[in-house]
Amino acid sequence: MAEEHLQVVFDTLVVVGPGLIGSSVLRRAKVHGHLARRLIAVDNSADVCARVMELGLADEATTDAVAAAAQADCVMLCVPVGAMGPVAAQVIPAMKPGAVLTDVGSTKVSVTEAILPSLRADVPYVPAHPMAGTEFSGPDAGLADLFENRWCLLTPLEATTPEALQQIRELWTRCGARLREMTPAHHDRVCAIVSHLPHLLAFTICGTADDLAEETRSEVLDLAASGFRDFTRIAASDPIMWRDIFLANREALLEMLGRFMEDAQAMARAIRWGDADYIVNKIERGREIRKSLIENRQA
Ligand code: NAP
Repeated sequence: MAEEHLQVVFDTLVVVGPGLIGSSVLRRAKVHGHLARRLIAVDNSADVCARVMELGLADEATTDAVAAAAQADCVMLCVPVGAMGPVAAQVIPAMKPGAVLTDVGSTKVSVTEAILPSLRADVPYVPAHPMAGTEFSGPDAGLADLFENRWCLLTPLEATTPEALQQIRELWTRCGARLREMTPAHHDRVCAIVSHLPHLLAFTICGTADDLAEETRSEVLDLAASGFRDFTRIAASDPIMWRDIFLANREALLEMLGRFMEDAQAMARAIRWGDADYIVNKIERGREIRKSLIENRQA
């Protein structure tokens, strides 16, 4: 079907938390249309609401989550994972019967467990996680093509109707994302290794560099080569968001960290004993992973 003949997925889409992810969805809706006819942004801060309007990201921006939710055909929660439960408890009672609730949280067990107690039988809920981001946050940081060719993981539950699942699939497809479905627990294990552990390593290595003696530290800053520089990009991420993610995905993250530490010890042992084959084999496996990522269009 030609794009101009597409029906919108939702009449009114309410995005709670127009930060990096929320404002990227709003931008996509503005640029490509067909996500929703009417866009409402909700934020705690009147200044953020004013900025959203200045940037032309929504038809309306308000601090009144309840009034906005009452008009929604879909409410998308884009707040930090630790705020999902309280925000859901606030908006769900106001939603129209049949309106769809969805979220974009980076952890799925904790977020679904926080939202389910407030859920109504007549409000279908579709948990989702678009696997895209940058180290920036807030409404200025969003990009209309942030989700292009990125995965969006959906973790449907009993409270997910097939119709609502189809609508959210369509919404993310129109954002340019590729879709995959899995359980919340599987999602959290996968994300612990592909996203949460790399962030933990980046925060830690920057801390280690910062703890070094004064003159060495300034050399780190002056001479940072690509390896360290790449870590600093990841380490520039939002502290509140990552605090919430680490605490919310504690079990899976600690399991992956344990495995990583064993492997790092094995590498240390190989270096100590001059086991060149072990070292080369590990580096070759890393190169293979990088090659597969490029072939998969995820690099
Ligand atoms: P962000 O840019 O910091 O935006 C968060 C938004 O939530 C801001 O508008 C913030 O408003 C609002 N907010 C914070 N606490 C709130 C509360 N208690 N009640 C209501 N609103 C609140 O963060 P983001 O990167 O877009 O992340 C948003 C969600 O997407 C998180 O759940 C995160 O796990 C998930 N996610 C992030 C990425 C990523 O790489 N960044 C990728 C995929 C999914 P104020 O600024 O006014 O406080």
